[in-house]
Amino acid sequence: MRVKLVVGNWKLNGSLAANRALLEAVVASLPAGGNKRFGVCVPAPYLAQAQQLLSGSALEWGAQDVSRFAKGAYTGEVSAAMVAEFGSRLALVGHSERRSVFGDTDAMVAEKFAMALAAGLTPILCVGESLAEREAGVTESVVARQLDAVLETSGVASLGRAVVAYEPVWAIGTGRTASAQQAQDVHAFIRGRIAAKDKAVAVALPILYGGSVKAGNAGELFAMPDVDGGLIGGASLVAEEFIAICRAA
Ligand code: PEP
Repeated sequence: MRVKLVVGNWKLNGSLAANRALLEAVVASLPAGGNKRFGVCVPAPYLAQAQQLLSGSALEWGAQDVSRFAKGAYTGEVSAAMVAEFGSRLALVGHSERRSVFGDTDAMVAEKFAMALAAGLTPILCVGESLAEREAGVTESVVARQLDAVLETSGVASLGRAVVAYEPVWAIGTGRTASAQQAQDVHAFIRGRIAAKDKAVAVALPILYGGSVKAGNAGELFAMPDVDGGLIGGASLVAEEFIAICRAA
């Protein structure tokens, strides 16, 4: 059976005091693991705090992005190896906010994915279409293009050590969730595209849904056959909401 994951994406939120309260509350009520993984992707300066508070717990931690460079004259960047040094297991790459606000291209995301893998992290590759793209009927070709950039750079076997998150841009932080069927349709498309290259990798690949997941809609989304958990933004900042979503998985 595929592993289920629920991962929080704190985005640009947090403080030492608020993080401590949130992490302590989440860890205290996290459901027993089994075939499940739970994690939080925190702003890079808080990786040390996450390591200190979460070591030995069932809650994993990681970064929201990694550099496509290994080292050198790249002011402001944080490498995957640096992220890994703080005991991280996870790294988001290609989040739509990185793509739209910071100009991450498919090619850059593919490089970041490769860096995360090389550092021993589990990359969570985020893909998804904008509202205009959905309305134009090109959701599948957009998602295929984003996936293919990684497949061409790292090969299909690399997805055996990764996670994909389908996050329709129009559903992120908007309160507008994709219906469970809309999510299932794109998840099935993603799995099918990977299966065309390697069936075993496709069957084992966790595909998360992200976009305004809350305690109230997580159960319905996670019940879909190709939805293997969620990437949670806003609701991951509220301990009770995040815990309820973890329970729904
Ligand atoms: C996200 O940032 O990955 C996300 C899904 O955000 P939200 O849950 O707030 O829509």
